[in-house]
Amino acid sequence: MIYQYWNERMETLPRAELEAYQLEQLKKIVAVALRTPFYQKRLGEAGIHDADDIRSLADIRRVPFTTKHDLRDGFPYGFLSVPKDEVIRLHASSGTTGTPTTIYFNKEDIARWTNFVARSIYATGCNKTDVFQNMITYGLFTGGLGFHFGGEAVGMLVIPSGAGNTTRQFKLMQDFGTTVVHATPSFLLHVEAKMREEGVMRESLALKRAFAGAEPYSEDTRRRIEALLHIDVYNSYGLSEMNGPGVAFECQTKDGLHIWEDGYIAEIVNPDTLEPVPDGEVGELVLTCLCREASPILRYRTRDLTGFYTEPCSCGRTHRRLRRITGRTDDMLIINGVNLFPSQIEEVIMSIKEVGNNYLIVVEKEGVLDRLTVKTEVGLGIFMDDTRPLNALKERIRKTLQSMITINPRVELHESGSLPVSEGKAKRVQDNRPKDV
Ligand code: AMP
Ligand code: ZN
Repeated sequence: MIYQYWNERMETLPRAELEAYQLEQLKKIVAVALRTPFYQKRLGEAGIHDADDIRSLADIRRVPFTTKHDLRDGFPYGFLSVPKDEVIRLHASSGTTGTPTTIYFNKEDIARWTNFVARSIYATGCNKTDVFQNMITYGLFTGGLGFHFGGEAVGMLVIPSGAGNTTRQFKLMQDFGTTVVHATPSFLLHVEAKMREEGVMRESLALKRAFAGAEPYSEDTRRRIEALLHIDVYNSYGLSEMNGPGVAFECQTKDGLHIWEDGYIAEIVNPDTLEPVPDGEVGELVLTCLCREASPILRYRTRDLTGFYTEPCSCGRTHRRLRRITGRTDDMLIINGVNLFPSQIEEVIMSIKEVGNNYLIVVEKEGVLDRLTVKTEVGLGIFMDDTRPLNALKERIRKTLQSMITINPRVELHESGSLPVSEGKAKRVQDNRPKDV
């Protein structure tokens, strides 16, 4: 196979040079971070008062971890390290309510991020002759605009179709000869099912590739999508705290995701001890963003479980590869690509006074999509045979949840005291989706 590189020198930089570059960038970003009160305090406590206190890459282990909790505490501007008028965009983590985690970009940050997305897209074999339909949510979620600008930088014709509405997606694909799409793996499976349902002939489409990410999926699911749609599927990993997409991406060997180490420092730690795991073992991914000045984030605990491949890739890139992400170390659920913490649901339903004390969150597969059901008990004094007020209550819960979590749940009401109560730690989530990772 002939591999194409967006920036051959950077992508194939010998490890020693790559690490020297990382050290230089780390020092720069530590200096930037020291402008924020949060890092001034945190780094100061660790004895880091100045960029020169970082002398080697190993010194990154002296930098304290940053968590989602820290980011929420710092909302809205606690992590901003440039004057506000230099900021040209913000993004926020998907599906969060209450206090979101927000990141800011200046002009150079956007250019650097776009470059990493373009590099990722190019690594899959795409070029300016491609027509790219971005079937993912635009808006605060980074997958929309991130891929949009990356696709334009490659020179592809970008169709900002957004997620959903499969019939319209087919029409766009046919009208403009779409060759590559970006979507969640569950939406790709949904697209395939709809194709059959609506009698859309595969031959009427010019589709060759898909970028699939934003949620975990297995190698089997990849193969299934590839076989059903006759395309190549590339795994795309990113998170808003690290800009969004373009953090780690598969090359044409489709065997692990190259993490762009000139933009990010990746560590894998044991989630309990927070010590590094032996090379190749699975643990929690910790990332330091080297390429964003407006809101620096150092040693971010992603909660994502993965490990490094120890062998170099046959494509010639020297940037290490991550294994497919298999799960998380916290209770965050990903429902059709939208992140959701059970506590967000609890917050909403417990604010409704007619709702009783016990509830259960059930996630299952309905066809190829995820389905969220929220079962709650009603408060004492509410009678189950009085259907009119019950239906109104159900609808109110559903609407409030939908507006807060951006997912439309099914709501079930149960009599007070009828939902199972576990002894010990309450088990509030039943994730019945098949575990095929
Ligand atoms: P967000 O910040 O909303 O973009 O969500 C980021 C999270 O989505 C990550 O921390 C992962 O848990 C998940 N995610 C993104 N891409 C993938 C992928 N390719 N495989 C598994 N999980 C992913
Ligand atoms: Zn490779």
